Amino acid sequence: MGFCIACGQQHAEGIRFCRFCGTQQPGEQLMAQLRAEAEQIRIALTQVQPHHPGQPRTW
Ligand SMILES: [Zn+2]
Repeated sequence: MGFCIACGQQHAEGIRFCRFCGTQQPGEQLMAQLRAEAEQIRIALTQVQPHHPGQPRTW
């Protein structure tokens, strides 16, 4: 079972288009891509917010 990303209606697993609104549903490949992107964002965030104990304050 899955849920439409657009209208939220429940539909069978593995369909490509919602039978209620016709919106194309994310497939396995897209979901994997989204997961990879989310992971990269998470990694980027941890790199953006490091604490530099030894870094002098220049301001
Ligand atoms: Zn839908």
